[in-house]
Amino acid sequence: MVDASLNPREIANRQFDLAANLLGLDESTRNVLRHPQTVLKVGVPVRMDNGTVKVFTGFRSQYNNARGPYKGGIRYHPQVTEDEVIALSAWMTWKCAVMDLPYGGGKGGIICDPKTMSPRELEQLTRNYTQAIAPLVGPERDIPAPDVYTNSQTMAWFMDEYSRVTGKYSPGVITGKPIELGGSLGRDKATSFGALVCAREAFRVKGLRTQGATIAIQGFGNAGSNCALLSERFLPGAKIVAVSDSAGGVYNPDGFDVKKLLEHKDKTGQVKGFPGAKEITNQELLELQVDLLIPAALENQITKDNAARVKAKVLVEAANGPTTPDADDILFKNGVMLVPDILANAGGVTVSYYEWLQGIYEHPWTLEEVNTKLEDRMTKSFTAVHTMGTAKKVHLRTAAYLVAVDRVARALKLRGGGA
Ligand code: NAD
Repeated sequence: MVDASLNPREIANRQFDLAANLLGLDESTRNVLRHPQTVLKVGVPVRMDNGTVKVFTGFRSQYNNARGPYKGGIRYHPQVTEDEVIALSAWMTWKCAVMDLPYGGGKGGIICDPKTMSPRELEQLTRNYTQAIAPLVGPERDIPAPDVYTNSQTMAWFMDEYSRVTGKYSPGVITGKPIELGGSLGRDKATSFGALVCAREAFRVKGLRTQGATIAIQGFGNAGSNCALLSERFLPGAKIVAVSDSAGGVYNPDGFDVKKLLEHKDKTGQVKGFPGAKEITNQELLELQVDLLIPAALENQITKDNAARVKAKVLVEAANGPTTPDADDILFKNGVMLVPDILANAGGVTVSYYEWLQGIYEHPWTLEEVNTKLEDRMTKSFTAVHTMGTAKKVHLRTAAYLVAVDRVARALKLRGGGA
């Protein structure tokens, strides 16, 4: 039987309801903000390398655009579901609001296993998906970006196909583009950069020392590996003692040489087998005695079943939705400071916004400009959420929702209530 408490849409609604109750939100506003505005389901045909045509199922969910165009990534993964895409689009709505970006929230996904597909198959999948959702997207309507198992190449194909469909060069339809096509410097590391700013701030408010602090990271893709690479900059003297990917994890209490670990992952496709490390499971990684835990893979990793065994003092959600609401309560009671996804991983969408601005003004910024603005915005957003949490005596997820839902609700009401 499927556990309804792990359904991402149920989780997103539970998180929203908590904030809506505390804000005393009226019923009409609640009704609008508990539902996506548009969900498109498409069949995406691809001629596979063996000559047969396979049809993949894809989605685009546009959750809410009260504060601006829909914004959110595209995920390629075998476990994508319609409810997951809707939940991710809701989280994007709150994320853009908590960062005070002029965007709403959207998300896309295709049920596929990109690891088993050739580059040509992936290109055709991306182009045909782009054609299918083209009527819905656009630089002032809905602007996708990368997510799990999609990258700047995927975005380049999307932009090219959309430009063909509309007959107009349209780099603004997508963010996370290659630099050569108008991408922003710093976008590739932005999610991790933002997460590490949050970790630094959490250490500061908790009075923790970074020297000798230990870090475990679940997921070693874009978000996870860049968190490992950037940790020294924001948490000087801290060491990465555990990392994992979909094949399992490795642990070394003395700390890893992150560059060597990345080379090993590039060569072998996994972190397992790294010399001198003990092999651990993804579950064991979450329960290690560390100062900082960074989930950077998928949803529902920390649940009511394992939350009490999490020993980290600070948990920074680089991934979307890694912790369930029941687990939130347990961690809060146990004094674990959890920086929630809608704040912790908002660096990516923030630099996506900077990329969009640079595109509109046709004026690229230096890496230093991007990072200075990002660091400033992340620090201010963390402080606003932390101050709210302290004032209302709630955990930081509810605090972040209080800030975000209030902003979206106000915009919605000013525009006429959404009906
Ligand atoms: P990615 O495709 O680059 O990496 C995903 C990583 O997760 C890989 O290392 C993969 O091996 C690992 N993984 C997959 N299934 C796993 C499992 N069952 N157990 C453990 N590890 C597993 O994706 P990414 O962009 O790094 O995204 C990771 C998370 O960060 C996602 O939740 C995503 O929504 C979130 N996120 C990413 C960005 C971004 O800019 N990349 C922005 C915001 C949020």
